[in-house]
Amino acid sequence: MSSLALNLFKSYYRRTYVPPPSHLEKREYGFQLFGVQGMLRHISFGNGNELNEFLRSRVPQHAYYSTALYESPSAPEMSGKGWLGAELVFDIDIDHVDTPCKELHDTWKCKNCGAEGRGQPRACPVCGSENLERKSWVCDICINSARDEALKLLDLLENDFGVSRNEVAITFSGHRGFHIHVQREDFMSLDQDARREISDYVRGLGLEPELMLRRSKGGLYAFRYDAETPGWPGRIARYAALLLSERIAGSGLPELPKAEWEDLIKTAVNELSAKIDEKVTIDVHRLIRLPGTLHGKTGLKVLELTASELEALTAEDILKKAIVFGDEEVRVRMRKLPSRVLLYTIESDSDVVNVPLHLALYLHLNGGAEVLR
Ligand SMILES: [Zn+2]
Ligand SMILES: [Zn+2]
Repeated sequence: MSSLALNLFKSYYRRTYVPPPSHLEKREYGFQLFGVQGMLRHISFGNGNELNEFLRSRVPQHAYYSTALYESPSAPEMSGKGWLGAELVFDIDIDHVDTPCKELHDTWKCKNCGAEGRGQPRACPVCGSENLERKSWVCDICINSARDEALKLLDLLENDFGVSRNEVAITFSGHRGFHIHVQREDFMSLDQDARREISDYVRGLGLEPELMLRRSKGGLYAFRYDAETPGWPGRIARYAALLLSERIAGSGLPELPKAEWEDLIKTAVNELSAKIDEKVTIDVHRLIRLPGTLHGKTGLKVLELTASELEALTAEDILKKAIVFGDEEVRVRMRKLPSRVLLYTIESDSDVVNVPLHLALYLHLNGGAEVLR
């Protein structure tokens, strides 16, 4: 089926014109080809036709572009590229979020004792080893959780950084999450330290509950801020007001024992912070998936979305837009089939199932399923 995967990707790039990204000629591109180890890097294009010609003739399994702009993007050394700035980028990946569906589709095998099972345990429940071989899958439940994280991030960017929703570009990664690119000149020149501070901020790191509390009568504590306070304190106050609504007499939040406030603040921060992969945000030379190309582990399209689309669309809508191959039935064989995957529930004890072509491609690319036809 590798040749089937290659042929399907080929047919996609033949019939598709991938829209060139902004500042196309100032970006570095990287590609991974089918059956070839390592990445082709330091590639640049003069225009959209050159980029599409490359995709049609080389048919990459994975396609990336730089979030940074360079004077000479194809220079072989980073130091010779002439860095001009980089978009501020956030990666929301479901690996960083606990979802109930992981029990339905993720599997692990311990490399130490050979035990195996479903879900995503931190360590082997039999021997405690962290050396696990993992296989993870995506379904509509995962996409929904990732979407919630993305919406929290948009809220933080808008209210705390003044980045409006039409100043961000959003992509569904074609796998387990979303990428959010801030497309504003004044963010391009931020260095790594500034990006780390922003990353820490949206993750809610370094917030000291104690500093938000004031000691009151009878050993109780009051929250120092109210719903109108900008930033995290106001966000926490609004969350507390919702949670404590039955106990609020008159205006303002009630006074509580210190430990109760501290728990509540921790819960609020955990609920309201965005679960991003900080490494992506901090890296000013990052290569990231090129919108409009196919994800090489799923065969799904890397899909551009506006903020209002992200709000309005369901996970099912998003997956349907990202599916570019047909529904014709294909017979595949695979051990440990996920029971929930993309939009499908697979209820079968057998290793052999009939599935739509686009799902067969995903099972093959990510799980090594054998196509029987
Ligand atoms: Zn083990
Ligand atoms: Zn899932």
